[in-house]
Amino acid sequence: MTWTETFHCEICGKQKGSVDHWWLAWTERYRPFEDSPERPLLKIYPWENMSAHDAEVKHLCGQACVQTLVARWMNTSIGVTHPISSAKRA
Ligand SMILES: [Zn+2]
Repeated sequence: MTWTETFHCEICGKQKGSVDHWWLAWTERYRPFEDSPERPLLKIYPWENMSAHDAEVKHLCGQACVQTLVARWMNTSIGVTHPISSAKRA
């Protein structure tokens, strides 16, 4: 089976080779219980070619880029759940 499709890392833009250990990530809206507000949920999954074609999925070349994605996602999520109302920072 020949796989000619190319994927690029969401963070650094590196092109995926055939034997790299890459990761997939999705962002979802998640409601932990009924009547609760929706919260962003991040899912990280080992590379799988079928899932890699999902339009929503992010492709990540390794741990460093996964960590970058998580950090960005956390910053975004904090902005969603805790709007910056005060300048209180440690
Ligand atoms: Zn990368």
